Amino acid sequence: MSATRNDGAPGRRGLLLVLSSPSGAGKTTITRRLVELEGDGLAISVSHTTRPKRPDEIDGRDYHFVDQAGFARLRERGAFLECAEVFSHWYGTARDPVESALEAGRDVVFDIDWQGTQQLAESVRGDLVRVFILPPSLEALEERLKRRAQDSAAVVAQRMSRAGDEMRHYDEYDYVVVNTELGQAVADVQAILRAERLRRSRLRGLDAFVRGLTAGPEDQSD
Ligand code: 5GP
Repeated sequence: MSATRNDGAPGRRGLLLVLSSPSGAGKTTITRRLVELEGDGLAISVSHTTRPKRPDEIDGRDYHFVDQAGFARLRERGAFLECAEVFSHWYGTARDPVESALEAGRDVVFDIDWQGTQQLAESVRGDLVRVFILPPSLEALEERLKRRAQDSAAVVAQRMSRAGDEMRHYDEYDYVVVNTELGQAVADVQAILRAERLRRSRLRGLDAFVRGLTAGPEDQSD
């Protein structure tokens, strides 16, 4: 899992940026904006799910929509880096695209729940950066879920009742961002990503690089 550079500066290990939040707190929008801002350096992980597609969703862009049997087959084959049942549907992150992105020197951002985050923490440890997005208030959360207007009233009610369970996991994350204003929340997550990319433990070949920088002129003559 390495990002490489050809300008002589140290390369670094790729990182996995996880964004979790209760449904409706804005993490999907934040994730998309972040990927637009970061361009090629950041790939979005498109999950598999057994949930029905919403009207404005596109198969392959928002999710890979699969049926129960298809999901179970992938799971048995060990195709998932993590998977979990959320709101009575299965969601999972396929292993191959994540590994290919990291191989190609791209970081990967994930929009997954706390269960998936716990599983990733066991398998990738130091390469994981966990960000929890909170809504400014419960009222704002409900308002956003209703405004989305793509789910039925029953689904909105179910998601509101699960919000507390999800939010109680905030303390398993490295960073917390309150999404009061979308632009600011995106800037905050981008700042986290940029700082984490510079973390010393991710940099490769640092010893040799600094030795080169600190060698006296006589050491460099031969
Ligand atoms: P939604 O149905 O609103 O798109 O997503 C419901 C929940 O499932 C969200 O909390 C979302 O982060 C989570 N989720 C989406 N994809 C995955 C995944 O691949 N793995 C896990 N563990 N959770 C996911």
